Amino acid sequence: MMDGIAGRIAEQIRNGGPVSVAAFMTEAMFDPYNGFYATKNPIGAGEDFITAPAVSQMFGELIGLWCGHVWMDMGQPAPFHLAELGPGTGQMMSDVIRAGRAVPGFMEAAQIHLIEASPALKMVQGRTLTPMGAEIGWLNRIEDIPPGPALLLGNEFLDCLPVRQAVKHKGQWHERMIGLTGAEEGFRFVMGPQLGADADLVPERLRDAPDGTLVELRPGDQQIVDHLAQRFAEHPGHALFIDYGPAQSEAGDTFQAIRQHRKTDPLEAPGTADLTARVDFEQLAHFARSGGLDVAGPAAQGQWLTALGLEVRAAALIGQAPELKTKIARQVMRLSEPDQMGELFKVMALSTHSLPKPPGFTGDG
Ligand code: SAH
Repeated sequence: MMDGIAGRIAEQIRNGGPVSVAAFMTEAMFDPYNGFYATKNPIGAGEDFITAPAVSQMFGELIGLWCGHVWMDMGQPAPFHLAELGPGTGQMMSDVIRAGRAVPGFMEAAQIHLIEASPALKMVQGRTLTPMGAEIGWLNRIEDIPPGPALLLGNEFLDCLPVRQAVKHKGQWHERMIGLTGAEEGFRFVMGPQLGADADLVPERLRDAPDGTLVELRPGDQQIVDHLAQRFAEHPGHALFIDYGPAQSEAGDTFQAIRQHRKTDPLEAPGTADLTARVDFEQLAHFARSGGLDVAGPAAQGQWLTALGLEVRAAALIGQAPELKTKIARQVMRLSEPDQMGELFKVMALSTHSLPKPPGFTGDG
């Protein structure tokens, strides 16, 4: 007998047939009563997963300086909107604000918005950010950010957006869906109907893949990028996304669940584990360019942070507190070494056409 979110999804399947992976993800994460994000803060060493802002203050500080730099390149618009998508505990925004205060006029011009779906995390963000003494507002959706020049930030935001999955079968793409096991004690993947027109969402590089290939579709990314394209055509701006995923579209199932820092079965006990999927940066860039945006990156997180002065910032912090040398050196490695977060995590900026190229993107990306 399944109860809570599992029970509700099971009921939906009994009534209407299998549900998409995207529908399952949305219920599991944002069910207002039992959803994974709805009721608690999962981010931190003692919780379910850890993210770069929790590894080190240097991460948010370098992003704050990056914001100051591109704001100056935009001609120092005042006021402008500084918005973070999915701010988690609020740690990154607090580091951005502290570093941003070093850029004359920047924080005075910033109207800060947090775009957050989880009521529990909104409270955590309030507690983290109140001591910063900056005025901050919350919005539910990216579309709610008022008109005007803007900088948008999203760390590990896109990986939370619901993905759909499709499998090629006899030359046709079919949606991979979630149904009930025979005894109705749990969930299992089943093959659903042909994708039809939605086959356009299959990344171009993968369209001719052989039978049996599994691909992921990202209607959520497309929706966000479509909105940015419209917004940035009317008002200048940059959106900076940092997330884990490949630089080129790859086939395969990356839908995963993390509970207490361990991978678990994503179909088991929905609402009790973080469900994410890798971000496809090639597809993200494709959506953005089709909408007329300029794209910088993807750059590997390690290279990007190093180009922005990670080592210099670390040396300054060690200068202030020599006893923290080992700890800070470990944080630098965690953020930038290829076998840690340095390579799998990528950074990409989507920008109003013909603004100066933002800093940190040294390669030809
Ligand atoms: N950026 C933070 C948190 C990452 S976890 C960090 O790096 O630590 C993902 C965050 O995105 C959470 O705050 C989650 O509640 C939020 N989120 C996920 N999907 C969302 C959506 N559709 N709308 C608004 N917030 C969302």
